[in-house]
Amino acid sequence: MKITLLGTGTSQGVPLLGHPNDGLDLSEPKNWRNRACAHLVSDGAHIQIDAGPEFRLACLKYNVPAVDYFFLTHGHSDHILGMDDLRRFCDLRGGNAIPVWTTEEGKERVEAIFPYGLHPKSTQGYIALLPEIAPPDFTLPCGTRVQTILLPHGPRFVSLGMVFTEKKSGARLAYFTDCSDVPAEAIELARNVDILIIDALHRAPHPTHLNFEKALDAARTVCAGQTIFTHMTFRIDYARDSATLPERVALGYDGMTLRIGEE
Ligand SMILES: [Zn+2]
Ligand SMILES: [Zn+2]
Repeated sequence: MKITLLGTGTSQGVPLLGHPNDGLDLSEPKNWRNRACAHLVSDGAHIQIDAGPEFRLACLKYNVPAVDYFFLTHGHSDHILGMDDLRRFCDLRGGNAIPVWTTEEGKERVEAIFPYGLHPKSTQGYIALLPEIAPPDFTLPCGTRVQTILLPHGPRFVSLGMVFTEKKSGARLAYFTDCSDVPAEAIELARNVDILIIDALHRAPHPTHLNFEKALDAARTVCAGQTIFTHMTFRIDYARDSATLPERVALGYDGMTLRIGEE
């Protein structure tokens, strides 16, 4: 199993527009963050998690050759607005639609933004998407098991949390972004995963996201082999804040690649 973080930034991206971004070392490439999304290769299949506005550029920069399945954590702009660029990956599947698993709200947003793409087969190079509400436990045709759970994203939204288990290696990865809490059931689901990718906006508390303290609490109870923070604001500087983290916890950065269960 291999995951590449295509983006590790918050909804406005990093650096922040029209702002001095004081405290952030802009000469460090790891401080330039696309909107959060990730590309997972498991049992040979290419699984894309979210597609923000820089999705196309990130696919070029970090060599994403295909998308077989898509997971949309929720319908916020920073996760959904790059999905039109899945059209090329539909072409590569002979025009067959890309299955999309998401939440009820995510499905409504896909249907509202891409009404021209809701077909089993693409026509004239447009996207074709088959959005479905993600079941709690299912197996992808490639063999990878997917367990899902709804995470609170502030008082009014939920975000889809996912735990992927690769059939051939048994490697397990949890991806929990855009959450203000990690409920006990989600902790249980992710317990002892090899890799936990988790929302960690910045240090101050926030109503719709985990801050560092809450993300570290979740990391401790999940007891993952490695925990990687994502969806960070300009207030997080890679070198300065990395130095404060405990063992087995690290800041993510765009282009970061992790391999587990591979030779
Ligand atoms: Zn977001
Ligand atoms: Zn969000």
